[in-house]
Amino acid sequence: MNEGDGEPPRRLVILARRCVLCRRCLALCPRGALRMEPDSAVVDPRLCLACGACVAACRTGAMAVERSPRLG
Ligand code: SF4
Ligand code: SF4
Repeated sequence: MNEGDGEPPRRLVILARRCVLCRRCLALCPRGALRMEPDSAVVDPRLCLACGACVAACRTGAMAVERSPRLG
C-alpha cells in the first residue's frame, strides 16, 4: 500500500444524484465506512476497502469502485 497515505489503489465513488437514501449499503459494509448525509450516502476512504459489496447492493447505480492511481 504505497499509493498516497495508505489509500488503496481502488476507491469507492458515490454519485450523490443517484442515491435514493435507501441505506442498503450502510447495512452491509463490513467496515462501517459509510454514513448517511442529507443528500446521499458518503464514504470514509480511510475505512473503505473498496471491496465492492455496497456496489452490488445499490439498486440505483449510485456506487462504483474505480481505479485510483493517485488521490489528492
Ligand atoms: S444503496 Fe445506493 S441508493 Fe441506497 S443509500 Fe446506498 S448509495 Fe444510496
Ligand atoms: S466498498 Fe466495501 S468497505 Fe467500501 S464502503 Fe463499500 S462495502 Fe464498505
